[in-house]
Amino acid sequence: MRLVLVGPPGAGKGTQAQYIASNLSIPKISTGDIFRANVSGGTELGKLAKTYMDRGDLVPDEVTIAMVRDRLGEDDAQDGFLLDGFPRNVSQAEVLRDMLKEWGLVLNLVLELVVDDDEVVRRLAGRRTCSQCGRIWHVEFDDKRDDKCDACGGALFQRDDDKEDTVRHRLEVYQQQTAPLISHYAAEDILVGVDATGPVEEVTQRAMEAIRPFMG
Ligand code: ADP
Ligand code: ADP
Repeated sequence: MRLVLVGPPGAGKGTQAQYIASNLSIPKISTGDIFRANVSGGTELGKLAKTYMDRGDLVPDEVTIAMVRDRLGEDDAQDGFLLDGFPRNVSQAEVLRDMLKEWGLVLNLVLELVVDDDEVVRRLAGRRTCSQCGRIWHVEFDDKRDDKCDACGGALFQRDDDKEDTVRHRLEVYQQQTAPLISHYAAEDILVGVDATGPVEEVTQRAMEAIRPFMG
């Protein structure tokens, strides 16, 4: 199964990706996570990406695509993968299609997580990430007042790009650059929309039901 998750920042892509990928026994490949790991590791890629990420802009396509190509070439991605946060514009989608074609493969499904703007802002404002295991929490919805990860005890932090100004810009970037992917994939007949409101487990259930008909 080769699938892509799309949706605005804060829709719950990272949260759902961990469950869906584990249900399907495929790796979750999150370009945001890979960029953030490079930023904290101080690599050249991280230094380059950071300027764009801090502003809430997309990292240039050639950098992002080279990184994804490497990652998809790894052993664990040969029997399927779940992409979270890539592609993020139509040209990345075209490159992904060509890359898979080169390898004799196709994308099976694009899942769109659908939530309204108010909910997105609420989710982003309260998002916290574990500095040790990377798990995603929400201050209000998970009642995380202690700033500690329930899974591993690590300290939780707020992403720099989840501050109000940057959030606003990221939502504009989504509307301008990423939203056109929806009609792009609808035209290819591989897009399925999933209502991403309500409890996390219910959204996962809806997502799994949407995926089932596309499984070989
Ligand atoms: P969110 O989960 O809030 O949608 P991500 O963690 O996916 O955000 O991405 C964080 C940042 O990393 C983006 O704002 C962008 O700067 C960069 N990034 C992630 N994926 C891509 C991509 N496919 N193309 C360009 N930039 C990306
Ligand atoms: P994305 O990767 O699309 O930017 P995340 O998965 O990081 O989104 O989720 C954004 C925030 O919303 C996180 O704090 C997460 O805990 C919270 N969240 C995710 N799904 C739900 C849900 N179904 N209900 C309430 N909060 C959620």
